[in-house]
Amino acid sequence: MAHYGFSHLDSINASIRMLYRKLGNSRIMSFNRDLNNPAFQISSSQNQSNQVESFARAIAEHYRMSIGRVVASFKDIPNKAAHVDLSASSDFVVEVNTQAVQHSDDLLAVLAHEVTHTYLHRTGLHFSETMENEILTDTAATYLGLGNLILNAYCEQKKRIDRNTTEFGTKWFGYLTPVEFGYILAKRAKKFNCNPVPHLKRDASYAFYAGLAVLQTEYRFPPFNGATRPARLRYLWNRRRAGNKSIADRPSDPLLSYYDQGYAFEMHDQLSVIFKCPSCSQRLRIPAFRRLISVRCPKCECTYECAT
Ligand SMILES: [Zn+2]
Ligand SMILES: [Zn+2]
Repeated sequence: MAHYGFSHLDSINASIRMLYRKLGNSRIMSFNRDLNNPAFQISSSQNQSNQVESFARAIAEHYRMSIGRVVASFKDIPNKAAHVDLSASSDFVVEVNTQAVQHSDDLLAVLAHEVTHTYLHRTGLHFSETMENEILTDTAATYLGLGNLILNAYCEQKKRIDRNTTEFGTKWFGYLTPVEFGYILAKRAKKFNCNPVPHLKRDASYAFYAGLAVLQTEYRFPPFNGATRPARLRYLWNRRRAGNKSIADRPSDPLLSYYDQGYAFEMHDQLSVIFKCPSCSQRLRIPAFRRLISVRCPKCECTYECAT
């Protein structure tokens, strides 16, 4: 089923790379707190506009961002749960599709995305292509601490129609699949050494574990020390082949690429291995020393053991 796919991982990782480039590690580290559903006061006496206002202000506060007036309107927007008007100076002007957004958890997930649009707009972070920009927004919201709000609106619904018929349905908000949100949440958990599971509802925690499983495979490519034995043997073979080639063989192209296996070798004064940081996707180059070394990514400051 589509909601179990991982087809946007390249775009997600390009978004995370963009966040590190533009915000830097120390600003990202300042988002160490998650916003969770129980933190929001939900009163039955509140009308929809008041609820939008109080939720949007709390989420904006998470971004340490001041917003002027909150202007909410409710209408049926085709193919969208909500839409924020980014041309409105300091005000937060949002349209909410009440056909799609029916519960307070839905509204939190939707506003997490829309307020993040405002934050990214004010910070000057965007991609030119609309879909890439929406993925950046979902990724930034999840990576910077709003992922529990977004994923907790995900649920698998089962409705008994009659004795012989059961109707199945799935609901979630965003441009990524629930398991892709789980993948970003797993990246955040690894970065901040935290565990989101106690804050996630049942279906959301399943999506998190599915995303975590995919993230863990990314640490099993060489030169990471956790690489599988077949991948390691292939790496040793490729390294020997790269080492045997002299720079004189290909002065204009010193790169021997195995990016399908997660790395490349480069020969200058010495043999180096190039690979992507599994945390921030920054490309790293380290000497192929033929021994175990501890590597610290200069961009995201994550550390891992590499058997180069
Ligand atoms: Zn959007
Ligand atoms: Zn990194």
